[in-house]
Formats: sequence, C-alpha cells, structure tokens
Amino acid sequence: MNSSASLSGQTAIVTGASRGIGRAIAISLSEAGAEVVVNYANSPEKAEEVVQIINSSGGKSYAIQANVADETAVEGLIKTVLERSGHIDILINNAGITRDGLLMRMKTEEWRAVIDLNLTGVFLCTRAVSRSMLKQRKGRIINVTSVVGLMGNAGQANYAAAKAGVIGLTKSSAKEFASRGITVNAVAPGFITTDMTKGLEADQILSNIPLGTFGTPEQVAGAVLFLASSPSSGYMTGQVLQVDGGMVMS
Ligand code: NAP
Repeated sequence: MNSSASLSGQTAIVTGASRGIGRAIAISLSEAGAEVVVNYANSPEKAEEVVQIINSSGGKSYAIQANVADETAVEGLIKTVLERSGHIDILINNAGITRDGLLMRMKTEEWRAVIDLNLTGVFLCTRAVSRSMLKQRKGRIINVTSVVGLMGNAGQANYAAAKAGVIGLTKSSAKEFASRGITVNAVAPGFITTDMTKGLEADQILSNIPLGTFGTPEQVAGAVLFLASSPSSGYMTGQVLQVDGGMVMS
C-alpha cells in the first residue's frame, strides 16, 4: 500500500474495472488505501485478476457483475455494496463502449446502446448512490467522459453525444449535491492505449496530439485519484479535467 495513503477507510466503486482505464483506476485507488469494488459486465476472469492484484498487495477488493445500463442491475449493485461494505464514499463512473459509424448509416440500436451505457448508466449509478451519500453528507463522484464530448468526432455521433451529456450531468449533479458535501467532477481522456483504441490508425491521430503519444490508463488514473482525494481536490466541483496530451486547449 502507498505510504501517502489518503483514502483508507473509504469504499470506492469503479464501474467497468475489469480492463483498461477502469482497471488502472481500481488499482490506483486501492494503493491509496480505499476498499475497491470492481464492477464488470462480461469479463469475470479479468475482474477477478484485478481483485487478486489488489488483495495480494495488501489492499481490499471484491468484484460484482452488473450491467450498469440496466436500472435493476444498478440498484442491486449499490444495495450489495452497502450491505457488504456499509458505506460508499467514492463512485467512479467509468464503464463505456463505442459503436462507431457515420451518422447517416448509424443504426438506431448503435445509437441507443452507447447512450444507454455511456450516459444513462452514469445517471443510474449516480442516482442510486446519491441516497446514501446525501445521508452521510460526504462523497466523491468522478465521471469518465472524453475529449470527443468537447470537440465532436466524425463517426462517433452517438459517443460524442453521450460524453457531452456526461459533462452536463456532471455540472448539474455538482450543483445539486454541493451543499451536502458531495463533489462531482469529470475526467476527459484523449487517446489512451486500451482495447477501445486497438486498431485505430495511430499516425493520423498522433499528428493531432501535441505531446505526440497516446496516454496510458495510469495517467488517467492519476487524475481520478487527485479528484477522489481529500483535501487536495476538496474545493473542486463541476469541473472537467482533461488528460489528452494537449489535444483540446480551451
Ligand atoms: P475498455 O478497455 O473497452 O474497457 C471497458 C470496460 O467497461 C470494461 O471493464 C468492460 O467490462 C466495461 N463495460 C462494458 N460494458 C459494460 C456494462 N454494460 N456494464 C458495466 N461495465 C461495462 O475501455 P477503456 O478504454 O478503458 O474506457 C474506459 C472509459 O474511458 C470509457 O467510458 C471510455 O468511453 C472512456 N474513454 C476512453 C478513451 C480511450 O482512448 N481509451 C478515451 C476517452 C474516454 P467487461 O470487460 O466485463 O466487458
């Protein structure tokens, strides 16, 4: 465990933590002392591997399968964590998918699948966890959006709409919850090396990244850890922190 641990005694849920960015966030929060709930949808072995990594290095973790686009599954996830851990202090809304295609040819199912998980999933998890966070008058919610939600992207109308929606949701929930000690912020990664970006044409993308490389899941996790930590980010809410190699400068 990290000697500068600041999250000990806290319980964090990371949605979509079996792979990629979510996995790095789960490991990083546990290194800072949090008990981490590894949520996943379809990869039980990969989720168990993350739990193993955490538990074998002195941390505390368990995995829960739940499709976070499904209201009943989300209610079940939060109920189970509250029963098992007693409290939820940190929620990281990270789970996400892409179903890319030009708008003219995009199937309604492709539009809906992305909105249902990447936007409605964030709403469902936030609403489900808010009851207990409001009661304890304390909580951190961090939503993983994307620079695509800020700048748009040809071939990703569904994804960009969902991620822009997450930014609006972040700001609205930040305003609703601020008086109750709950902060809500977002992290907007650029291009990060994970399964999601496998197969993308790197050369064209790299020419638009001032720092000249894709980012790593650990670099996104660093920003999330900062937003989850007290008191360092305690005076921040409703903000979008970009981790994008300088792609979008506003
Ligand atoms: P990834 O490697 O494809 O991993 C996606 C994760 O989401 C997996 O753990 C997956 O679980 C989980 N998941 C998928 N559907 C789910 C569902 N219905 N319910 C619960 N979990 C579900 O993706 P990533 O690149 O790490 O992306 C993580 C987040 O960062 C996403 O929100 C993505 O939009 C955002 N992001 C990524 C990039 C990038 O360049 N990679 C850039 C900007 C933003 P299973 O393994 O069980 O399927």
